[in-house]
Amino acid sequence: LSPYRLVTKEELDKLRARENETFMKRTPKSKALFDKAHENLLDGVPMPWMADWGTEHPIFLEKAKDARCYDVDGNEYIDFCLGDTGAMFGHSPDATAKTIAERAYMGITTMMPTEDSLEIGKDLSKRFGLPYWQVAMTATEANRYVIRNARTLTGRPKILVMQECYHGSLDETLPHIGEDGKLCLRSKYDSNPGLPKDQLTRVVEFNDVEALERELAYEDCAAVLLEPVMTNCGMVLPAEGYLEAVRELCTKYGSYMIIDETHTLSNGYGGYTRAHGLKPDFVTLGKSIAGGVPIAVYGFTKEVADKIDTMYGNGGVSDPMGIGGTLAANQFAIACMRTQLEKVATEEAFEKMFRGLNRLADGLEAVLKKYNVPWSLTRSGARCEMQFMPTSPVNGTDAKNNFDWELMYYTHIYLHNRGIIITPFHNMMLVSPVTSDEDIDKLIQGWDDCIKELSEVGT
Ligand code: PMP
Repeated sequence: LSPYRLVTKEELDKLRARENETFMKRTPKSKALFDKAHENLLDGVPMPWMADWGTEHPIFLEKAKDARCYDVDGNEYIDFCLGDTGAMFGHSPDATAKTIAERAYMGITTMMPTEDSLEIGKDLSKRFGLPYWQVAMTATEANRYVIRNARTLTGRPKILVMQECYHGSLDETLPHIGEDGKLCLRSKYDSNPGLPKDQLTRVVEFNDVEALERELAYEDCAAVLLEPVMTNCGMVLPAEGYLEAVRELCTKYGSYMIIDETHTLSNGYGGYTRAHGLKPDFVTLGKSIAGGVPIAVYGFTKEVADKIDTMYGNGGVSDPMGIGGTLAANQFAIACMRTQLEKVATEEAFEKMFRGLNRLADGLEAVLKKYNVPWSLTRSGARCEMQFMPTSPVNGTDAKNNFDWELMYYTHIYLHNRGIIITPFHNMMLVSPVTSDEDIDKLIQGWDDCIKELSEVGT
């Protein structure tokens, strides 16, 4: 048990039973749909993560708009999960929804480029300072293509990732250092038992420059792939100078530096890369850039583009290398991305998000202080994370060791029953440009009530 839990397991179980009962009363239609769904859907859901909210059953959604979700039982929720970033700028922003409606009648996919693609290339270059861009379907896929390019360009087999990272369901990025020091998959079930993990991957802790140099010195890593702030194991901020050291070591040992901005785009108009002047060789991102319409992008330097051109010819790396896809860069998704970038994910939108986040984070820190709770809050751009530990974790293992799943599920269902959704698996709260101050204050009050009760029960 986490020493920072505030209550005993029995006390927490009792509180959770009470909240479960409330939840069941509020969501009978979702329950009925969930039961029926088991007839043809594994675990009653079309995608495994949808069963991972920690509630007795998932809520089935009726619709979502701006910062709100509405379930089939007529409950309304203020949404701070925002589809785990896919709806970072709010659900169905009007401008993007309009493009979706209009363009749906003009052809979805033809394997032909449209003029819109020039505009998104220009926009992304301006944001991230990288001149060349390509389009994929999902962030997972963007990472896959970048990895493939990095391997081909360097002739090296391995990818270095951070312990407890997540970059999509890629064989190269899932291995982690197990208790015996060997690479394994995080789950107790190995989804790919025959995979030679140590031939594909090297893993180090985030913020550990020495370990990074030791591993890169083998000179068999095509690339280092990392989020500039780890956002998938709680939230881990980079230590002062860490990302600059990663850059230097990548250059020194001939590995590419890939920054995954899929989540950290919430740090600004050009993501964390622009906000902190990073100089990666590749940037990848997806999820929110077309309002949730599946699309992702990857950008790279002129040096990389020139090398691709020299090595594969004609700048084209299609079929033989397995880069590209029939639906990738389809005209519909590109049009949606163009609108989202030009009209929704604007500098003004980010200003609003940062203002909202500061209001939220200040409020939550005040609550922690008020009840003298040994937890902390980590903030980064438009998102923050409630950490069940007194200080922000320094790396993935620190975050994992101090994480408390039962407490997380309890606090989430507590908020849920009071009309608030935050990101499952950890405690991430994301503020969109259409999240109102009133919404934010309700979340602060929700945590206040929850923590107050935990403190009282635990004394
Ligand atoms: N990169 C990061 C940092 C992510 O958090 C995720 C998904 N959580 C991905 C890549 C993969 O995104 P997708 O599932 O949309 O392919």
